[in-house]
Amino acid sequence: CGIFAYLNYNVNRERRYILQVLFNGLRRLEYRGYDSSGISIDDSSDPNTPQPSSSSSVSVPLVFRQEGNIESLVKSVYQEVDEKEINLEESFSIHAGIAHTRWATHGEPAPRNSHPQTSGPGNEFLVVHNGIITNYEVLKETLVRHGFTFESETDTEIIPKLAKYVFDKAKEEADQTVTFSQVVLEVMRHLEGAYALIFKSRHYPNELIACKRGSPLLLGVKELTEDVTNGSAFHNDNFLSKKGHPKELFLSSDANAVVEHTKKVLVIEDGEVVHLKDGAVSILKFDKDKGKHGGALSRVASVQ
Ligand code: GLU
Repeated sequence: CGIFAYLNYNVNRERRYILQVLFNGLRRLEYRGYDSSGISIDDSSDPNTPQPSSSSSVSVPLVFRQEGNIESLVKSVYQEVDEKEINLEESFSIHAGIAHTRWATHGEPAPRNSHPQTSGPGNEFLVVHNGIITNYEVLKETLVRHGFTFESETDTEIIPKLAKYVFDKAKEEADQTVTFSQVVLEVMRHLEGAYALIFKSRHYPNELIACKRGSPLLLGVKELTEDVTNGSAFHNDNFLSKKGHPKELFLSSDANAVVEHTKKVLVIEDGEVVHLKDGAVSILKFDKDKGKHGGALSRVASVQ
């Protein structure tokens, strides 16, 4: 029902802070209605060395899912944090977290049907989804034939599994350079229905991809002048923030959940794919008829 993401870049944020931003985002989306919720954050990382896409040493993202209201998710997350001795003070200079409030359309409200939905053990691909995939049954049958097993009754679960299928296939074909956006563009080619999606992946740590068709999605950018290492403030006239500058990036179903952080908000249009990587924002245009990976054109966005 509502999707939200928070990516901090070049600015140290403790896990405790990251969790708070995600929970507050969900609280602001609560009015849209919900029966369950969930989040994914990273297990641990070396804050000074962002891991390359090809690295196999990247830790498995943590996933927390709960039915009921946001506060029951919050409670269960802190309980698990305690039990597993997850360090809330651990600091990340780059971190990509995603969150979801669910209004069930396919599958009863239950932790296994809550989002993020996953590609399977190892959480290689994680997806939060607002909307309905109308052709999920035929995609599910195909993925089952390819050896995938499903844990939920949702329409959404086919999306991360399809992403894993596309990624594995590209690797098999020795395409070592397949990018996160190429994977998502290929997945989009197969989806019918309405969606706003955010993808997180163990293979592309510190990156997020969002795309939409029919369901709302927007991007918020907050440039942080106070953390500039050389002490000089900078001005950024362009909406698409420049690489290297410390910043916080937000994706949300609703401006409600972003305005407390920044007024720089861009409404994403149908068929657009937002790729957040290395502190830069690229917006690609999905074209079903173009090329193997869906095809894409960049657009330059400006504020207001
Ligand atoms: N169709 C998805 C599900 O039932 C997403 C529903 C929503 O937008 O919350 O899991």
